[in-house]
Amino acid sequence: MKKLLITIDGPAGAGKTTVSRSLAARLGYKYVDTGALYRAIAFEAISRNIPQDDSNALEKIFPKLDIKLKTEANGSPKILNGHKDITEFVRSPEVSMAASKISAMPAVREFLLDLQKNLGNEKEAVFEGRDMGTVVFPNADLKFFLDADIEARAMRRFGDLGGTHPLDEIREDIRTRDENDRNRAIAPLKQADDAVVVDSTNMSISEVVEFMAAEAVKMM
Ligand code: C5P
Repeated sequence: MKKLLITIDGPAGAGKTTVSRSLAARLGYKYVDTGALYRAIAFEAISRNIPQDDSNALEKIFPKLDIKLKTEANGSPKILNGHKDITEFVRSPEVSMAASKISAMPAVREFLLDLQKNLGNEKEAVFEGRDMGTVVFPNADLKFFLDADIEARAMRRFGDLGGTHPLDEIREDIRTRDENDRNRAIAPLKQADDAVVVDSTNMSISEVVEFMAAEAVKMM
């Protein structure tokens, strides 16, 4: 059977994380959440009081970072910096917004590019992000672009956060992050020419995963 490198790109709240994890589990593949890498840097910047627009100051912490993505025995992903487990901190709206800001910086994207490419060496992996199919793995075997309308995406994030944040704020955050991600100069969010577009607005997670798994099996 052919070993595939699969990429799933798309805007915030389209269901990428849940779908990518399920698809990887279904195929027995590794799952890599590249947003977590940007979130880990954003979290470290906040923890160290580094202004989010100061690229030089941010670059100075790169040599001190040792970001690792792990999967627990029950399948849940964990994000570590050195031995510090930062999983529970990186999903907050504050870190989301900071990740979106720092991800526009060339130094940050360059720092993470090699790390991501190395993680993809072995294939049999599902990579989730914004520029997986366009920049990091332009030769991926199978590329998806997962989208959904803004209302559906805001509702999903609202659910993810357990109703702890007002829907209006979440919708505005998503809109701002979309703007940042689509309009930045390097590696903006856009679908690769050869990506399969999936609109999940009226689809359940399992329908999306079924569809993607069927596409993957066709290529094996
Ligand atoms: O996917 P997630 O919402 O966790 O990503 C957090 C932020 O990291 C995004 O808003 C985006 O700005 C950035 N990101 C990126 N490129 C990726 C993955 C995430 O710019 N491949």
